[in-house]
Amino acid sequence: MSMTITGEWLIAAETRAVLDALSAGGALPRFVGGCVRDALIGRTVRDIDIAVDIPPEETVAALEATGLRAIPTGIEHGTITAVSGKRTFEITSLRQDRETDGRHATVEFTKDWTLDASRRDFTMNALYAEGDGTVVDVLGTGLGDLNARRVRFIGSANARIQEDYLRILRLFRFHAWYGKGDMEPDALVACAGLAGGISGLSHERIGAEMLKLLAAPHPEVAVDMMAQTGVLSKALPFAEGVPPMAALVAAEGRIGVSAEAIRRLALLTGKTDAVMAGRALRLSNEQMKALRQRAPLDYEIDDAPSARRAGYERGEAAARDLLLLRAARTGEPINTRLVSMVMDGAASEFPVSARDLMALGMEPGPEIGEALSRIERDWIESDFTLDRGTLLSGLAGRKSA
Ligand code: ATP
Ligand code: MG
Repeated sequence: MSMTITGEWLIAAETRAVLDALSAGGALPRFVGGCVRDALIGRTVRDIDIAVDIPPEETVAALEATGLRAIPTGIEHGTITAVSGKRTFEITSLRQDRETDGRHATVEFTKDWTLDASRRDFTMNALYAEGDGTVVDVLGTGLGDLNARRVRFIGSANARIQEDYLRILRLFRFHAWYGKGDMEPDALVACAGLAGGISGLSHERIGAEMLKLLAAPHPEVAVDMMAQTGVLSKALPFAEGVPPMAALVAAEGRIGVSAEAIRRLALLTGKTDAVMAGRALRLSNEQMKALRQRAPLDYEIDDAPSARRAGYERGEAAARDLLLLRAARTGEPINTRLVSMVMDGAASEFPVSARDLMALGMEPGPEIGEALSRIERDWIESDFTLDRGTLLSGLAGRKSA
């Protein structure tokens, strides 16, 4: 029985235009990698990779002959990005990796689909599909492993990792997203033995991989195994011990919040300075800010007023995440009552404005800002109960005093 995939992305006119151009140029184009894997298991397909049995210069010529834009994004490894309408496609020539240095390879183009499949990392990533959606399991093991949700190296885990140490992190990332049950024992042994090679990877790469892993709905088994094999402390030197990721994910589920990489990262940074941890992973400014908001280990949110205050001052997401992280660390169930008070606090609106103060005769200037923060503090300290009139009369009293 032959398997087929379909999807809006597969039948879209932009996709057909790329396949037609490549075929007209003498190639057999096949979808490969994530798009085939994700379509097979009913997940949303994001980027589309295509493999072709012609060398990259011919790919460029074939695309340009039909007026499609071809960008040589990774031409030395055989990759051309085709732009068709609003979509982009990564088109890579069949290849074999010759010499490898633990991250980069010298490549040799080929017409042999088995060689191309064999240089890929995991069996579920070596699935191809024809333009009509017919799946081609070149190595014969991809479909079975995908169905069993088994993330398995093609060939020997030891050898494949030594070619490219990034594959250690990819193994855990793919297990977090696609794996079920235990990880493959021989892959784990290989990771434990070769974890030192991670230090040769760039911080950007490690950061990007870790964030993708931590964004998975269920990263707990992968994170546990990373800690047990010694991979976690090599990837994140600040991560100590075995982080209680399962407890964090359970607490998230209990209050119905979705997976979020920075929240999970905050669990791993622990006592480390968030700025240092964020810099080490080359986080964006926005991610850095989010991590810092979730960093305090001792932030007290233990009754209604402190929860409302945390929600108001830190915002709903950050204050709620502090509650989730504390629950995970202490092993206590998440306090849902405090979570709703955080939400109340976040929704509170300060009832006084600069205009009110000017109406009372204050001149525009820095004093207005100072007075406003003073009144806001009174209001927060009243647990958000003082109304506008009372707050403003308090000001009048203080001014005359
Ligand atoms: P996604 O794009 O959803 O993260 P993907 O499987 O498409 O998943 P990419 O990083 O886009 O992953 O790579 C496309 C394909 O290239 C993979 O499916 C795999 O076959 C191959 N590949 C990518 N990185 C490596 C690597 N480091 N070693 C071996 N093969 C790789
Ligand atoms: Mg991809």
